[in-house]
Amino acid sequence: MRIAVLSDIHSNLPALEAVRADLPQVDEVWVLGDIVGYGPQPNEVIGVLQQLGARSVLGNHDGAAIETVDAAYFNPDARAAIEWTRDALDGNARAYIATLPEMRRDGEVTAVHGSPRDPIWEYITSPGVAAANFHAFDTRLCLFGHTHLPVVFRELDGEVEALPGVAGPAVELDRGRWLVNPGSVGQPRDGIPDAAYAILELGDRTAGDSIEFRRVPYEIGRTQQLMRERELPNRLVERLSYGR
Ligand code: ZN
Repeated sequence: MRIAVLSDIHSNLPALEAVRADLPQVDEVWVLGDIVGYGPQPNEVIGVLQQLGARSVLGNHDGAAIETVDAAYFNPDARAAIEWTRDALDGNARAYIATLPEMRRDGEVTAVHGSPRDPIWEYITSPGVAAANFHAFDTRLCLFGHTHLPVVFRELDGEVEALPGVAGPAVELDRGRWLVNPGSVGQPRDGIPDAAYAILELGDRTAGDSIEFRRVPYEIGRTQQLMRERELPNRLVERLSYGR
C-alpha cells in the first residue's frame, strides 16, 4: 500500500499541480489539513483534492474559513487572508471543509493536522513535544502537519529522537513508533521554497514500512501574481520566495 501524504497546501494551486504531476503510482492520497488560508485559489485546490479522492483532516485555517474554529489566535496577516478566503469560498468548497474530521485512523496509521492530543492547534516542534504526544494515539504511526517543517520523530525504548525530513532515500520505519510530518506543499518554512510532500510505503511480510520525502519546484511567481491581484498581505506573498 502506497500513500501520498500532503499537508498545508494553503490554496496554492501551482504548488499542488506540480506535486500532482510528480506523484508516482499511489493507492491513496492523504491530506493533513490547512487546505486553504494564505493563498489565492481555495476553490480550485479543493476541486483537485476531490478529483484525487483525497482523504483529508481539518486544519485550523480550514475551520477558521468556515467559522467553526476561532481565528482570534491568528496573526494579522493570517487573519486578513482568512477573511478574504471566507468571502471567496464557493458552496462546494464550504461543504467539503464542513465534512472534514479532526482525526483519521486507518489500520496502523493515524492522521491529524496539529498533534494527536490537540489536533487543531498544537505545534510538534521538538522531541519533547513529540514525547508528550505518543500516548495520545494507539497506532504505530501518526502523520501530522501544521509546522510546515518535514521531520520524523521516533520513539524507541522510551526515548524520542528527531530525524530530518530531507529529500532522498526513504527512511525505514522499522522499530518503535513514529510521528511524521511531510512538510508543506503550499508554504514551506524550512528555507527551501520547493513544494514538499512524502510517499508512505506500508509494507507487507517481505518489506517494512518507509517514508520518502520529496521536493518539487513550481512556478512560485504565478502564485505570487495571483496573491497580489487579490490584495493578499505582501509578507505572505514574499515569504514564498524564501521558503520561510
Ligand atoms: Zn498551515
